[in-house]
Amino acid sequence: MGSEDLVCARCSGLVIEGRCPTCRASREYLRRNSATISPQMIITIIAIIMVLAALAVRQAT
Ligand SMILES: [Zn+2]
Repeated sequence: MGSEDLVCARCSGLVIEGRCPTCRASREYLRRNSATISPQMIITIIAIIMVLAALAVRQAT
């Protein structure tokens, strides 16, 4: 998602390398954020809903 390429404003290093406390905080924030609302998770949820809908239609007919 491009979060690996983020450059820290404080140490000018890559955030994922965690060279300074700002890097580590940002990295932790990104990790937590992507864990809660990742696009992959949304796709998985949509896929499950579609399967359930298909099963419901099959049972109805
Ligand atoms: Zn930094």
